Amino acid sequence: MRQPGFRIDGLQYANWSEKIFRQLRAGGVDAIHVTIAYHENFRETVLNFERWNRWFEQYPDLIMRGLWAGDVDIARETGRTAVFFGFQNPSPIEDDIGLVEILHTLGARFMQLSYNNQSLLATGCYEAEDAGITRMGRQVIKEMNRVGLVIDMSHSGDRSTIEAAEISERPITITHANPFEWSPALRNKTDAVIQAVVAGGGMLGFSLYPHHLKGKSDCSLQSFCDMIARTAEKYGAESLGIGSDLCQDQPDSIVEWMRVGRWKQRARLRRGLCCRAGVSTYAALVRGQPRFWQYRDGPEGHRPQRGRNLWDYGRQLVPFFPGQFWRSERAIEPLMVSQAGQNLRRVGGAKPKS
Ligand SMILES: [Zn+2]
Repeated sequence: MRQPGFRIDGLQYANWSEKIFRQLRAGGVDAIHVTIAYHENFRETVLNFERWNRWFEQYPDLIMRGLWAGDVDIARETGRTAVFFGFQNPSPIEDDIGLVEILHTLGARFMQLSYNNQSLLATGCYEAEDAGITRMGRQVIKEMNRVGLVIDMSHSGDRSTIEAAEISERPITITHANPFEWSPALRNKTDAVIQAVVAGGGMLGFSLYPHHLKGKSDCSLQSFCDMIARTAEKYGAESLGIGSDLCQDQPDSIVEWMRVGRWKQRARLRRGLCCRAGVSTYAALVRGQPRFWQYRDGPEGHRPQRGRNLWDYGRQLVPFFPGQFWRSERAIEPLMVSQAGQNLRRVGGAKPKS
């Protein structure tokens, strides 16, 4: 039976394969934001675009390139998953603001302004001092607004995130994190941060990454759902989504590279806990991609909120796609949000006529 609404995952970094593409289909995922750069420079990022070009060629019945909001509809109608590209770090633009437009032209749609550390644009969430958005950061935000590259502050510091929300003329995202109040990890977001993001029409995607969960790998689905319900009461369900942050089938070496990049000597990294926790310990809550995406009422009848199911939150990214991928210098038009309808659409959410 055709499911109502859309299923969108706000972020994943799997070790992609035909197996996972088939699992996305089994779970009925209409669209997904896929990380294609962590620490890569421009040229290395281009290689990742090339790799995806081959996958689109090889698996045309399972996946398709996502560039515009309408591509989510096309994916749904043709039984495929639309793949939208993003970067967790601004490293692909190197120190050249002109690359923002170039990368958007190549198909990028999301970019984080920092990844844990200080960047040329903003402070990361693990730095001791957050000096806010830098001079270059202000210019890059304007340029991202202009071309329609979504600002993602998932790994940024509090002050930087609040300032980005203020400076940006378009809604910004925290694609994958949870409320700090529920689980006080440095990567999770305080009230003030979430408030600043949603006040500008932005959204928060709930993460399943063990370090972002209360009790880490032992987090129960009930606790996760209760957290969603409380967050929805506070900020409104229309500001919430899911960014699973699944890193399915990635070896520990990749998780280590995600964290270390080129800024730390790998040999000095503390062995054990931090790497192992990255990939294999989603198990308690997720038990693999297909099972997570098949939660609707929630297994064992868990419901995050009366009248809603876990999946209703996957829809909240929908207005974002037309809102942000609209390539023009026009001001943002108001979101047309219909909780009941099929589904959250925005005026003018089509591929622009060139
Ligand atoms: Zn991340």
